Amino acid sequence: MSTSPDLLPVTDRLARPVEDLRVSVTDRCNLRCRYCMPRELFGPDHAFLERDELLTFEELERVVAAFVDLGVSKLRITGGEPLLRKDLPVLLHKLSSLEGVDDVALTTNGVLLPRLADDLAAAGVDRVSVSLDALDDATFREMADTPLSVAAVLAGIDAAQSAGLTPVKVNTVVQRGVNDDQIEQLAGWARDAGVIIRFIEFMDVGTTNGWLRDRVVPADEVVARIAAQWPVDPVDGDVAHDAGGGGFGPESLDGDGRRVQVAERYRYRDGAGEVGVIASVTRPFCRTCVRARLSSIGELYTCLFASEGHDLRSLVRGGSSRAELSSVIADVWRGRSDRASELRAEGGLTGPRVEMSYIGG
Ligand code: SAM
Ligand code: SF4
Ligand code: SF4
Repeated sequence: MSTSPDLLPVTDRLARPVEDLRVSVTDRCNLRCRYCMPRELFGPDHAFLERDELLTFEELERVVAAFVDLGVSKLRITGGEPLLRKDLPVLLHKLSSLEGVDDVALTTNGVLLPRLADDLAAAGVDRVSVSLDALDDATFREMADTPLSVAAVLAGIDAAQSAGLTPVKVNTVVQRGVNDDQIEQLAGWARDAGVIIRFIEFMDVGTTNGWLRDRVVPADEVVARIAAQWPVDPVDGDVAHDAGGGGFGPESLDGDGRRVQVAERYRYRDGAGEVGVIASVTRPFCRTCVRARLSSIGELYTCLFASEGHDLRSLVRGGSSRAELSSVIADVWRGRSDRASELRAEGGLTGPRVEMSYIGG
């Protein structure tokens, strides 16, 4: 079934369509990054979701199809660590086969990629983003609270490249005083390895990661440091592949006339590819945010900083049709006015919010 004309266009209160869906398939993880799942809070006593609470693959397919009917064409599978979900390639094959889905990506810590990369590619995954915060083992182990070494993640990146899940993107969350000394080293490695690295500003997602504004390294500082070593030019007027933009008018330009997008891209003048920054804190891009999020138990979140989601699981388990699901999602989306990162910039972001490991970044 293709998009239902009677449901379109579905735009929210700020005229933003829904084009991009992040699907969390588990709240569990094989790492314990201190900024995401600190072990003191996500230890043996933590109540992770039970298996029967998670949407089954069939349920996920129905819910995702309902989003596709509203205009979603890009999916990103995440978690927790999505590769921990049993038989994940089976789900990915179902989702990538849906008519109207034209891009399926996955965000992972990379550790299980050597085992799964070929199966992911065969299931129709287009690209993977691998999270890697340091090349130095001691820093990596400290940040991810793991005995594993960086080599485990690098092996995952290699496996993804060999499987054709390219270009592999690497995401690095930068925290001042924790891993900001790694910026040049990581950028240099990425240039040689043929991966696109994006440096992400540390965000105050959830309430457990001990966020401090002083820990945020502004994206402009990251770019200046990299450019001092390898000169870069901004990729002007281009919309980052995962920006989820499109269809926007001049209102999607910021005060300097620059396109507001998720990843700001820079091309190395010497031809060694590109590097990106995601300035969620210092340059919020809420005005062009066309992303919905689905938790692993089927709650729709309209913002990464939302305190609660809208239950879709009871509908799908209660026998709602695809059209009925679409209609409920459309109603939620039409009521959406989220712009949390802009509010933070204006000094007004308070209150409870969902954890990153639950909703998947
Ligand atoms: N486990 C997978 C991984 O690490 O790629 C997928 C889920 S993880 C929650 C998704 C992304 O969110 C990772 O790139 C991670 O670094 C990022 N992330 C987690 N907490 C963050 C925070 N407080 N600020 C910025 N990014 C964060
Ligand atoms: Fe796990 Fe990813 Fe969170 Fe790290 S960032 S704890 S790998 S979910
Ligand atoms: Fe979108 Fe919310 Fe992030 Fe703004 S803060 S870009 S509305 S997810």
